[in-house]
Amino acid sequence: MTKIIDGKIISAQIKEELKTKVTQLKNQGIEIKLAVIQVGSDPASSVYVNNKKKACEYIGIGSLSYELDADTSEDELLHLVKELNESSSVNGILVQLPLPKHINEDKIIKAIDPKKDVDGFHPQSVGALCIGQPGFISCTPAGIIELLKRSDIVIEGKECVIIGRSNIVGKPMALLLLRENGTVTIAHSKTKNLKEVAKRADILIVAIGKPKMITSEYIKEGAVVIDVGIHRNEDNKLCGDVDYDDVAHICSAITPVPGGVGPMTIAMLMKNCVETANI
Ligand code: NAP
Repeated sequence: MTKIIDGKIISAQIKEELKTKVTQLKNQGIEIKLAVIQVGSDPASSVYVNNKKKACEYIGIGSLSYELDADTSEDELLHLVKELNESSSVNGILVQLPLPKHINEDKIIKAIDPKKDVDGFHPQSVGALCIGQPGFISCTPAGIIELLKRSDIVIEGKECVIIGRSNIVGKPMALLLLRENGTVTIAHSKTKNLKEVAKRADILIVAIGKPKMITSEYIKEGAVVIDVGIHRNEDNKLCGDVDYDDVAHICSAITPVPGGVGPMTIAMLMKNCVETANI
């Protein structure tokens, strides 16, 4: 029987745990506040930002919202980030990506104080992860580790294949699986014989950005399959990078889309926010 890894249930558990922690912190006089910056009004970004604000409210984290015009200059945004870095009442800073083209995203990410970098995108956070030092971890891959652990899936000693090498998913995912003593392979668009490489995986993480690309031909019998992709198909329904209906019966466990990895990303953002209290 294939186990369906339910990200909705696991993320709800994490949010309850965080809610309890935030109440305890409040009783000690410690309040946590997240500043959320959105530049422009891209509808998808607005949905993400609203969901993040709602999660803050549910857990008891304060949120400050900055909705800036699409023509905000890079200097103006840098100035706001600097102010928030210096504000003792702000614990975490989140700049919703993507930013308008005239703003250099790398420059903005680098301007965020690593102690407030709750997205885990700052080069210092990434470097710390690479050498096993404390720091914030990118939320989607951190959420995948939680999904695996809370589903009692052992990572140590397993062949882990990640398809996709983005800075926010694939690369930090590889480092996290390595930290958990997995044997890690990263595949990408230039990988030869992708099907054979993917078929080696006991744990296959798919973060490609191509709807339903991964079919049963890529899967070893009994593999655990984690689908990071999220797309709307021609019927306006959500689907992942994995062809779920074709693949599910071969796997020992699989994440659905929606309701798998997606809900974990916000839960882990909230976890990072709560961790700012320890800094
Ligand atoms: P990305 O930055 O576009 O990276 C895609 C990666 O896939 C690249 O490394 C690319 O290889 C590789 N790739 C593309 N086509 C390939 C092919 N035919 N064969 C093998 N590798 C291929 O994407 P991302 O930001 O990591 O996101 C991936 C997916 O996850 C997207 O659908 C995104 O919407 C979704 N996502 C979901 C969440 C969530 O919370 N659920 C969070 C983040 C992302 P090259 O490097 O060689 O170009």
